[in-house]
Parts: sequence; structure tokens; C-alpha cells
Amino acid sequence: MSKTERKLLIDSLEKKGISDPNVLKAMRKVEREKFVPLLMRVNAYRDIALPIGYEQTISQPFTVAIMTQALKVKEGEKILEIGTGSGYQAAILVEMGARVYSIERHHDIFRNAQKLFDKLSIRVSTKCGDGTIGWSENAPFDGIIVTAGSPEIPESLKNQLAMGGRLVIPVGGKRTQTLKVVTRLSENKYDIESIPEFAFVPLIGREAWDKE
Ligand code: SAM
Repeated sequence: MSKTERKLLIDSLEKKGISDPNVLKAMRKVEREKFVPLLMRVNAYRDIALPIGYEQTISQPFTVAIMTQALKVKEGEKILEIGTGSGYQAAILVEMGARVYSIERHHDIFRNAQKLFDKLSIRVSTKCGDGTIGWSENAPFDGIIVTAGSPEIPESLKNQLAMGGRLVIPVGGKRTQTLKVVTRLSENKYDIESIPEFAFVPLIGREAWDKE
């Protein structure tokens, strides 16, 4: 049942313009229903964000797909995720062969995700803390994906990109944001592309919003 539903959902993402075969393949494999609360499971294969508790969400599948596609992940690359949430995005990145580091600021959400990664044997290096300042001990990263909306691009995250690395981050107001794709060209030079119009929960921390 859920396998057919998953196939239909991912086919619909392809029709909406997701073209990276590795993203589609990973999303066809990872079981989204395992990352949503029991009561929400009937909705796991609808293309919508769903509540995971603590006023947070698992992102809409189309958003996960477009952000992952923009990240241009290659097998073996080191990727930092800010906002572990349900763990679904991290699981997609692991499925694509990335070495994944993920930071979550909310302690209970962090603990739930960690338990789920253990249960499903998904290898992710996790940390509870403020992701706006990155994870300098493990930098540089080939890619950084921020799954909450920020008022601006945190300098620390730009600085922790490897040369040629990509940072994908929703930037804008508290209600709607533009997806920014930042590529590090050299020590101090970055290229920035924009994809409109998204709605994320706020990124809260030293280099982003100071409260919800
Ligand atoms: N990637 C998640 C998934 O696959 O379910 C989506 C997570 S949700 C849209 C955004 C998450 O970012 C929330 O769990 C929230 O607590 C977290 N968050 C917000 N500000 C943060 C920060 N400064 N550092 C780390 N996590 C943060």
C-alpha cells in the first residue's frame, strides 16, 4: 500500500520538474511514513508538510526534493544539515551516499531523531545546538542544507563551505522565503542564485532569528 503511494508521490514530483535521478531514486526508497508521527501516517505520501510536535514540521516532499537537487550531492561528499527535525531529509542524503552531519536545536526533537536513526540503522553524526554557527570541528563541508527560514545567510555557514561547495538556505521574512543557492567560488567569492517562494518554520539562533 505505502509502496504504491510512495511511487505515485515521487512520480508527481518528477512531473513538477524534479529531474535529478539520484534524488528521485533516494526518495523512492526512503519510507517517509517512518519519519512522521503515528497519527499522521495516513498523510505521509501527500505532498504536504506535516507536524512532528513542538510546533515543528517534516518538510513538504517537493521542498525536500528541490533543496536536495540544488545541493547537487555526490556519493562520499560531506554534508551538513541544519534542522534535523524528523530525520527524513538526513535519511535521503544518506541514501544518496553522503556522509551526513546534522544539528538540531530543540532537545526533544534531537533525541527523537537520534533514536529513530539508531532504530533504522541510518548513519548520521548528530549534535544538539545552534546550527547557525555551523560545526567548525568537522568543516569544510561539500554541501550545507538549512531546513528552516533565516533572515539572512549566516557568515559562519558560508565560511564552512569547501571550495566549490554549495549552501542551500531559505532566506526572507518569517512567513515566506526565497531559496538561496550559494556556491563558494574562492576564499572570498560566492555565487548566489535564487528560487522563489517557500514557507519554512524559523531558524532560531545567534546568526538568525532570536525567537519564534
Ligand atoms: N529537515 C527536517 C526533516 O527532514 O524533517 C525538517 C525540519 S523543520 C522544517 C526545521 C527544524 O529546524 C526544526 O526541527 C527546528 O527545531 C530546527 N531549527 C530551527 N533553528 C535551528 C538552529 N539554529 N539550529 C538547529 N536547528 C534549528
